[in-house]
Amino acid sequence: MATVAGIAGQHASMVGMRVALVSHEASMGHDTGYGHPERPARVPAVLAGVRTAGHPVVELAAAAASVETLALVHSATYVETLHRFCAGGGGHLDPDTVAGEASWEAALRSAGAGLTAIEALEEGAADLGFVAMRPPGHHALVSRAMGFCLFNNVAVAARWLTGRGHRVAIFDWDVHHGNGTQELFFEDASVLYLSMHEFPAYPGTGWYTEVGSGAGTGFTINVPWPTGTTGASYRHMTDTVLVPVLRSFRPDWLLVSAGYDAHRADPLAGIALVAEDYRFMAGRLATVVPAGRAVVLLEGGYDLDALRTSAAATVNGFATGPGDEETPPPAPGVAGAMTAAVTGTTARSWDL
Ligand SMILES: [Zn+2]
Repeated sequence: MATVAGIAGQHASMVGMRVALVSHEASMGHDTGYGHPERPARVPAVLAGVRTAGHPVVELAAAAASVETLALVHSATYVETLHRFCAGGGGHLDPDTVAGEASWEAALRSAGAGLTAIEALEEGAADLGFVAMRPPGHHALVSRAMGFCLFNNVAVAARWLTGRGHRVAIFDWDVHHGNGTQELFFEDASVLYLSMHEFPAYPGTGWYTEVGSGAGTGFTINVPWPTGTTGASYRHMTDTVLVPVLRSFRPDWLLVSAGYDAHRADPLAGIALVAEDYRFMAGRLATVVPAGRAVVLLEGGYDLDALRTSAAATVNGFATGPGDEETPPPAPGVAGAMTAAVTGTTARSWDL
């Protein structure tokens, strides 16, 4: 088990950490219709959180992903079909997922934004990337939109990096399982996919026995939490399982699928995190890759105050590192049983 001293010893808090904040007004044009929770106001809430976190911000416009870049993840047929669908005025792609004419540009820039952040970090222009874009991405499949997601933005960034020989870890703390991301990298040992999510919940995947297959066995870790789980369980799991695995994996890049719908104020889900829990997890994650090699990408999160405060807390966590906060003990009850189950399953593939 990683000790607090061991974690803290590997990260000096980063005074003056510069954040590359990547967004684009096209995100605001993606109209999901009256009353839809995945709405334009989410973006300014996240932008406000990052801008007021107290760190220098480099504002960057998200570049549109090219057709070649989209092809890293999506089928040409799907890309063409979605383009025509949007150009024709759009409509419902599934009961939850809507696209209109302006959604095409929003989707292209949302898929390209991760690359904008990565390039800024590679040039040394900033120390952390933060992508505040919509539509989100982690449910999108090779040839299908679902769950408010059109293109799988984090997967596009991950494939772009692995194509350049990098090892990539994706840490997905959105309250929903990133089924699209998991499916894309299920047999891939160059991408480590870690997800904590509510279970049972949409989309229904992400049980702890889903650990990858073939060469990718062990490179998917799912932590399906019961409704009502609090930050103590997230913190314990981060310190005793997820960070030790990340240390062993030694990623060149860390991508955070940062939904903020596990916040207790979120209207769509039943996990009970507070903003400080995102700060704690981000502080730990700051120790697993060198400075300038982490990009946070917005996924879900539907309470505007929770989005603002949690985005700020994420940035502050990366800036300050793990500090001296102790690892809480595992929770009793169902969450504790799940902690034991995930620990036992993960220990078959990794030294914990
Ligand atoms: Zn979500």
